[in-house]
Amino acid sequence: MEPEVYFSRIKKSGGRQCLSALLDRAGGLLSRFKKGSFVGIKMTVGDEKSTGYIKPGLVRLVVERLREQGARPFVFDTNVIYKGRRQNAVDHLNLAYSKGFTPDKLGCPYIIADSVFGTDSQAVKVDFNNIHEIKVPSLVKVLEDLVVLTHITGHIMSGFAGSLKNVAMGMASRAGKQIQHSSLKPAISTKQCALCGLCMEICPASAISEASGKVFINSNRCIGCCECISACKLDAVKINWKEDANIFVERMAEYACGILSQIRRKVFLNFAMDITQECDCISGDDPRITEDRGIFASEDIMAVDKACFDMLTGTKDIFSRGGRITAHLHQFEYARQIGLGNPDYRLVEL
Ligand code: SF4
Ligand code: SF4
Repeated sequence: MEPEVYFSRIKKSGGRQCLSALLDRAGGLLSRFKKGSFVGIKMTVGDEKSTGYIKPGLVRLVVERLREQGARPFVFDTNVIYKGRRQNAVDHLNLAYSKGFTPDKLGCPYIIADSVFGTDSQAVKVDFNNIHEIKVPSLVKVLEDLVVLTHITGHIMSGFAGSLKNVAMGMASRAGKQIQHSSLKPAISTKQCALCGLCMEICPASAISEASGKVFINSNRCIGCCECISACKLDAVKINWKEDANIFVERMAEYACGILSQIRRKVFLNFAMDITQECDCISGDDPRITEDRGIFASEDIMAVDKACFDMLTGTKDIFSRGGRITAHLHQFEYARQIGLGNPDYRLVEL
């Protein structure tokens, strides 16, 4: 049977009313979390300059519902592989606090799940085409209850970024994130490169250098994070968009599948508001690429992502960047093949 996706349309009254209506009328989704249970709420505050992230007041509404049921919610995220203030738990927590994600505003603790330096990384055996072992914080191995709150954005590699990406990248350890990126091997077109040095500054692996008036990427050092692609304003950093991006989304789908198979009860909420072309790691206060639509919720990760994607794209795929990126379409199909979820959904507008 097709999984249901509940949809609360945003009105002039704003995000709080939209989410309250969803929680009131699709409250059964959260009722699976029992009294006394530890419910991890996965979300991200985004990078320092991003403004589109899900605001603390909205997260608090979810926290309050769970507490009313007697559950013990906590919000969590993991450290990232990019340069910036989310590479370790100290800077990451200070950034979160500065954006208002303090325990008093959230109504629960905010935890960085993979330890101070992102070294809590446990191996779990899986059996997929690309990945045979996932690397996750130990929390993932013991967590039984999960709510995933995802701010919908575009993404430089996968086109569309929804719950799947939030789980696959956001619940992997730093080592796990690197493995997912490892199929990406960018190279620099010397014809297009103006030697500005921006990519060298931003590369977290010090993999880019200049010699004899040319800029090179050392592929042995490169961790495939794509930061150089977004940094280069001249489009001089090249990847194979079809092959590299398809393998990248396959790895993400495999990671998401491996992670979610560890966890018994799950609910996914996608916030289709303040949608930018780049994800919250890069976006800053970028122009929004479409109008706000509302919030989607489901117990099926693929159903919630596909319903959201379908409503946002309609007759024009705003995530394809003029037809160049098709990896998100491959991602939906591949995720179905490996049993991550069912992208054939039934939309229930509340
Ligand atoms: S950012 Fe682009 S133009 Fe600047 S050095 Fe790197 S590849 Fe060259
Ligand atoms: S070369 Fe580019 S993709 Fe590779 S690690 Fe550096 S910034 Fe990331």
